[in-house]
Amino acid sequence: GGNKQITDREGLVKLLRWHFGHSDFRGKQFEAIQAVLSGRDCFCLMPTGGGKSMCYQIPALAKPGIVLVVSPLIGAMENQVTALKEKGITAEFLSSTQTTHAKTKIHEDLDSGKPSTRLLYVTPELIATPGFMSKLNKIHARGLLNIIAIDEAHCISSWGHDFRPSYRKLSSLRNHLPDVPILALTATAVPKVQKDVIESLCLESPLLLKSSFNRSNIYYEVRYKDLLDNVFNDLSALLKSSGDVCAIVYCLERATCDELAAHLSKHGISCAAYHAGINNNLRSSVLDDWMSSKIQVVGIDRKDVRLVCHFNIPKSMEGFYQESGRAGRDQLPSKSILYYGIDDRKRMEFIISNAENKKGQSSGGSREGSSKKSLSDFKLMVEYCEGSGCRRKKILENFGEEVPPSLCKKSCDGCKHPNQLVQYLEELATIAAGRQRSGLSRIFLSSSNDKVGGEQMSEFWNRDDEVSCSDEDISDSDDGIENAKREAGCKASRRAGVNAKIELLERAEERYYRNQNCDKPSHKSDKNA
Ligand code: ADP
Repeated sequence: GGNKQITDREGLVKLLRWHFGHSDFRGKQFEAIQAVLSGRDCFCLMPTGGGKSMCYQIPALAKPGIVLVVSPLIGAMENQVTALKEKGITAEFLSSTQTTHAKTKIHEDLDSGKPSTRLLYVTPELIATPGFMSKLNKIHARGLLNIIAIDEAHCISSWGHDFRPSYRKLSSLRNHLPDVPILALTATAVPKVQKDVIESLCLESPLLLKSSFNRSNIYYEVRYKDLLDNVFNDLSALLKSSGDVCAIVYCLERATCDELAAHLSKHGISCAAYHAGINNNLRSSVLDDWMSSKIQVVGIDRKDVRLVCHFNIPKSMEGFYQESGRAGRDQLPSKSILYYGIDDRKRMEFIISNAENKKGQSSGGSREGSSKKSLSDFKLMVEYCEGSGCRRKKILENFGEEVPPSLCKKSCDGCKHPNQLVQYLEELATIAAGRQRSGLSRIFLSSSNDKVGGEQMSEFWNRDDEVSCSDEDISDSDDGIENAKREAGCKASRRAGVNAKIELLERAEERYYRNQNCDKPSHKSDKNA
């Protein structure tokens, strides 16, 4: 109690045990806590599930005053605040979505000389409002603003997979509050992004803390659709053999989700498809919501997901890492199974190049670099699938980590069954070459003024022939992609099952890209090409 500040390891571990029930700090948590408590800036790179929140929650308990937490994920903030309150820790959350009454109460507490709030969670948008900045100044003038924690800090970088214009405004924090230590936290490991974050937030000789991204409890495997008799049957067999577990299946599109759900149910597997479920009438209003960030994130916050399947290849290693990383957050053995198909690859290449071309047109071609980046990001993902050798190594090298040969311990198909994998890849190459010769799996796009709904579009993707696209309501926004993803996350919830609990998530992100493709009618008809 009192005004005492706890800085020694023993005292901090006591706080950890008392409030959170964890026996000791994990990874670099202690170093991060120590740095910010001593007033030093810190850049903390930890994989999802690495325990980033403890790095600012413990300091909030170690010192009287307030820790400000900035995050774009409203759902996640609400969850954290609720969880903290349940533990008897006073935390509050301020956003535009709250009632005036709730906001007033929080502001009254902040304005009082002795606020009871230890952790104050806010959105980046709120930081940008002048009123709020002067509030922070007042709190700081009373010596009560201890630390500013910036979660998902990669959102400030346009190099990241998740750039948010609202994060740019956070660069003013250093100016307004020069002596408050900033703790930047992210799970995005790309070196370029790190540099960008540190510069944009004006961190001053920050302590750099990096944890390994290795998820040793996840077994990685790729299955080759083109070599399977029936992919649906394979997936249902996989789920059945996994027993009564919680699983997530990511699909590229809604139609696949629905089809899969129907198939799995027929095979006695209890499951549910979750997707935006947009029909023609709703589509534009839902898109509007994506654009204006009205749809918030919840994400899937289960720790006991045993299996994450990608039914279609993701568009980048980063995305794949994040999604497969939803498996085994309780550290117990789990699996990541990716179903790879040649047609899926072509489809995704088409989606990426078209989305990027479109962006390029509307911004005078300045997006060319970004188009190349997206395609090269995707190429790494393809190499993950089409390469022999250790999958784990491919994942970690992508994050700039050096991987000793002993790391995997045969916990991927490439290390466990190397010869079989080589054989599969040879068969796949033969099939791919055969198809190229026969000119199959080509995608065509023509123009017309008809409106196109989700169903028609999925048919388009499934049919390999002409479809009509039109321009209309879809504006260009980077946020749309993320909001779309988030929306899919929102819809995800739980379901108990006889054999398995499964969640099928539409990859709303790709649907977004797809919709973007239809923004402008394309007059390309290369059917005879
Ligand atoms: P991140 O934000 O990095 O994804 P979280 O902060 O949500 O990770 O923490 C992930 C999980 O790890 C949580 O369930 C949390 O309770 C747990 N955790 C955090 N720190 C520790 C620790 N020192 N010991 C044991 N479990 C921990």
